[in-house]
Amino acid sequence: MQPNPLRTTVIGSYPFPSWLEFASQHLSEFGSADIAEMQEDAVIAAIHDQVAADLDVITDGEQTRFDFNLSFYGYLNGIELESVSPRRFGPPAHDQRGRHAITGTLAAPRGLGAVDEFQRLARLAPAGVTLKASVPGPFTLSGRLIPNKQYPDRFAVTEALLPIVQQELVALVEAGCREITVDEPSMSCYAAKLDRRRLVDIFNRTLEPIVERCRTSTHLCFGNFKGHAVGTRQYAPMFPDFLDFNVDEIHVEMASREFAELELIAEIVPRRDVSVGIIDVKSYYIETPDDVAARVRRCLEYVSPDRLSLSPDCGLSQTARWAARQKLCNMVAGVKQVRKELGL
Ligand SMILES: [Zn+2]
Repeated sequence: MQPNPLRTTVIGSYPFPSWLEFASQHLSEFGSADIAEMQEDAVIAAIHDQVAADLDVITDGEQTRFDFNLSFYGYLNGIELESVSPRRFGPPAHDQRGRHAITGTLAAPRGLGAVDEFQRLARLAPAGVTLKASVPGPFTLSGRLIPNKQYPDRFAVTEALLPIVQQELVALVEAGCREITVDEPSMSCYAAKLDRRRLVDIFNRTLEPIVERCRTSTHLCFGNFKGHAVGTRQYAPMFPDFLDFNVDEIHVEMASREFAELELIAEIVPRRDVSVGIIDVKSYYIETPDDVAARVRRCLEYVSPDRLSLSPDCGLSQTARWAARQKLCNMVAGVKQVRKELGL
């Protein structure tokens, strides 16, 4: 059950401040101490906006993953950065992200960086707010690595990454992290085409060492690179298989899909808590507190407040910061309105 009814939370990422975007394109002009200071300042800004919105759960906004070397791939041995994307011009889409060649045995002797991120967040965040870490799962991470002789297909790459992700999750728990999201957007984007039982097995083996040791969740994502979805935005093909994901909470995006299939949340709650995306991160229409309250009431037709948390549809990294900030404030205000009505 949710630690508090109608909990307000976020998926993970938050927009970078403009100066961070600019600096990330000129990193060679900065020293290592400058970069460390920049990372800390960016996290302070993300914490500020989330705390000002009065969210129950916050993240570090993934503010430090602004460069290849600072991303998960930058921590992997045995790969070579492929800087040239297959398509470099034209409308933005996920095919403009490069894939990396595997050149040796995959390993991450320094971890994947998520522990440092969590420790920084814990040091900078005010007391009383719940902190959440988010880590991509091995199947999703494998999508940008090109199989080779040693790792002949995507599943072989996934199996090589699985223990690396597992170790990071265990290290997060040992560092005091009490809430972890493991996201596998590649699983939800391609659920209709893939062997879902095999995906569930990969997912559950990844989380196996931390289940029962912290609160776990996953976000069933349809993709949001440059604000665009990938694949069919339908949950029906994932169900009931993905209900076997061994997590405390499953998040579904509803706002950008005009609440299509909302009734499916009634199928989630007998097994898992549900977090519903009620803020459209792809639209610049700013939901009002009244809009939010109406959306929460719709969710309550299917689930009780103690099994429901509310959040944006996806990470906010692809939404302008002014809009992200206002959307979070209005989300919390609208949820508070419903809490008040229910006497919570
Ligand atoms: Zn998402």
